[in-house]
Amino acid sequence: MQPPASTMPDADDILRVEDLKVHFPITRGAVFRRQAGAVRAVDGVTFTLARGETLGVVGESGCGKSTTGLAIARMVTPTAGRIAFEGVDITDFDQDHMRPLRRRMQMVYQDPYGSLNPRMKVRDIIAEPLEVHGIAGGRAALKERIAASMAMTGLAPAMADRYPHEFSGGQRQRIGIARALVLEPSLVICDEPVSALDVSIQAQIVNLFVDLRDRLGLSYIFIAHDLAVVRHISHRIAVMYLGRIVEIARRDDLYRDPLHPYTKALMAAIPIPDPELEATRPRQIVQGEPPSATGPRVGCAFHRRCPAAMPRCAQEDPVLMGTPGERAVACHLHD
Ligand code: SF4
Repeated sequence: MQPPASTMPDADDILRVEDLKVHFPITRGAVFRRQAGAVRAVDGVTFTLARGETLGVVGESGCGKSTTGLAIARMVTPTAGRIAFEGVDITDFDQDHMRPLRRRMQMVYQDPYGSLNPRMKVRDIIAEPLEVHGIAGGRAALKERIAASMAMTGLAPAMADRYPHEFSGGQRQRIGIARALVLEPSLVICDEPVSALDVSIQAQIVNLFVDLRDRLGLSYIFIAHDLAVVRHISHRIAVMYLGRIVEIARRDDLYRDPLHPYTKALMAAIPIPDPELEATRPRQIVQGEPPSATGPRVGCAFHRRCPAAMPRCAQEDPVLMGTPGERAVACHLHD
């Protein structure tokens, strides 16, 4: 496989992320605080997102997937790399420069209750971003816009005077989606938006995301910790491990033929609906924990847990090799 080429030139992409790094400093000393190291939360992530496309981003807790989303939304500051959104390089934008772009790039969070102010009525929660951006309009226009956002996400506009605690978990997530969409964004970063919901509700909310994307032409980065959740919605999927993408592929290619041993392990963790098959299928559970994100990287970050590890895996760090937009994998079995 060939190393991926630079991601920057294509104007049709809504988002281009090149060699993104987010390192959080570790400081020591009670009085004279000095930097004693860094947590490499994101450590060289490169991908593109086309208009109308959904990229699923998957990996276990601490792999850097949520920090990647926050860095793209410029809610944490990148340490290195470039981020281009709708053709504009936003890597060095401060909050003032980001404000007009925030309308076009919204986030939906994991915890629909924690992200909604419990003392605000639903109408005020949805109206707030319009007021922040100075586009609320007159009372009648605002009411109409709130009602349209609620209806679009399957909420009866008559419920606008209720408070978040009066809704179920699924309904609260619909409120969070309505609030994100009222600004008419082009990109929505969905950070584990169904993880806190009952399994029976998850499919409804994923279907809502699909329906809204197709109706409104939205692009999504859809972050989740398992491959089952992103399967239905994603066009492509990036698997992250210890701050890096270890495999990225079109959805059907990834599910049909996962290449990276870590992707295979995530695939094996997806439950099979048939209980008899589920009880008898061979297990490929990944043992142990990922290594520390603070120590030096020596060899493949997955080598201590990898069932296919070879002697060179402990010495040589594999590079993501392949074709951007098609398939790329970071593993010595495929270089
Ligand atoms: Fe496993 Fe080696 Fe591939 Fe890493 S490079 S995933 S240790 S086979």
